[in-house]
This record gives sequence, structure tokens and C-alpha cells, in this order.
Amino acid sequence: MRGNVLLRTGLLLLILLPIGFLLLTPPLVRCLWISRSASYRPLAGTQDVYIHQAATTRQENQLRQHVVTARNRIAWFWGSRHGQATLIYCPNQTDYEQYCDGGEGAGCSLGLPWGDSYLILGPDGNNADVIAHELCHDELFARLGWWRVKRQIPQWFNEGLALMVDYRFSKPALWNTPRRAGKHTPAESHPPPSPTHQMMRLTDLETTRDFFGGDYMHTMLAYQAAASEVAHWLSVVGKAGVPVLTDAVAKGADFSDAYRQLERRRTGK
Ligand SMILES: [Zn+2]
Repeated sequence: MRGNVLLRTGLLLLILLPIGFLLLTPPLVRCLWISRSASYRPLAGTQDVYIHQAATTRQENQLRQHVVTARNRIAWFWGSRHGQATLIYCPNQTDYEQYCDGGEGAGCSLGLPWGDSYLILGPDGNNADVIAHELCHDELFARLGWWRVKRQIPQWFNEGLALMVDYRFSKPALWNTPRRAGKHTPAESHPPPSPTHQMMRLTDLETTRDFFGGDYMHTMLAYQAAASEVAHWLSVVGKAGVPVLTDAVAKGADFSDAYRQLERRRTGK
């Protein structure tokens, strides 16, 4: 009898919890139903991109171009593209706030535990750098899954990596020539600054709250520290090290161990 009650309560919870989860987050429900929204239409000539009906032809053409540039940049950086996020472009702030809680920044991403993901672009988000940045977050999510990203990936790495395809902050020339022990390459004459000289410690930038929880200056310094560390690491391991690292983590390796091991293997230390 008691077992039956427990079973029924468990089943009820299994049904009610996801419904409650959806009801609590209206932006999520809007994302899930984007294909049925009368205010948005699929962007012709692309896949999985929705644009607000109010967007002008110029904005539409720009978006098409920026999506292609950003997706190509992701494929080049990662070796291939696994992410399948749906992009939603809201040219007006009011609409952006309907999809992205708080309406801050040029874009935001929503990844769901069962694998679906949405990238929402605001009025300032129709830009190849913004789209590539958000797609890079999504690529990590697609390769590792929601749980592993939450549990294993420090925020400084997630943001630092996204900044490497976001050319507003860093150009690939900063890290694109891999360094090898005993060999001097042109990139080595001006290597990215060593992380030891940074103002913020990476150990203080592990969680989303650590990273974004302070004021504007805190977040900017956090971005600087994250970009500096990842650019430094990439200048040692090369971009081929990125999928090697994520493959190792996907197979159960500890992030920090795999990250440092790749670096040591290259420097021979
Ligand atoms: Zn980011």
C-alpha cells in the first residue's frame, strides 16, 4: 500500500515538476513555441533562425550574413560544428526582454537539460562577433551536455573560450601560432601576458555568480582575466587542443587535470 502511494506521488511529481518549471520561466516557453509565434518568421536561406516580423530588409540581410560568418568561425575554431541552437533575433528591446530575462547584453543563451538550446539576440546582437560568442557557449554545451558544463566547466573557461571567437575582444593572431618547446616562432616574441600578472585570480571566477555577480568593472576585469588565460593556453596547445580537451572531459576526465596536462605535454614541463 505504502509502495503504491510512493509510486503515485513519484509519478505525479514527474509530471508536475517539468510543467512547473516551464510555467515559472515564461521566456523559456516563448522560446519553445517560437515556430508557432505569429510575431516571428523563419529567416529564409538559413536553418533554425527566427527573426521578428518588425525587422527591416536591411536587418534581415545583415543577420543572414552574420549568421554564416559566425557559424563558419565556429567550425574553423572547433574543427567542426556540433551545436544546433535555434537563433531568435529581436530588433526591439521590449521584445528582447520577453525572451531574455532582464534584457541585458547584446545576446543571451538558454540551454535545457534535455539538450535543446536557444540563442536570443537583442537590438545590438545582429553582429558576427556577438553571434559567434554565443555559438561558442552553445558548442561547449552541445559537446558536453548541460550537466557537465554546470558541474565541470569553470566560468572563466567558458567565457574565455567564447572571447576567442569574439573579435571585439581578441584577434586570433594573439594565439594562433602554436608554441613548441625549444622552437621560437614569431608569436613567441609577443606572447599573451602570463596569467600570473592578472589582477583577478581564476579561482575567484569559477561560477556564474563569481563572474557576473559584481559591478560592470568587475565583469570587465573578469573577461580580461578569462581571455588572457585562454589566449595564453591556446598559444601553447593550439586550437586543436580545444576539442581534445572537451573530448577528454566528455569521457569523464577532470577539467583542470586535462587542461593542465595538455599544456604540459606541449611545453614538456
Ligand atoms: Zn559569454
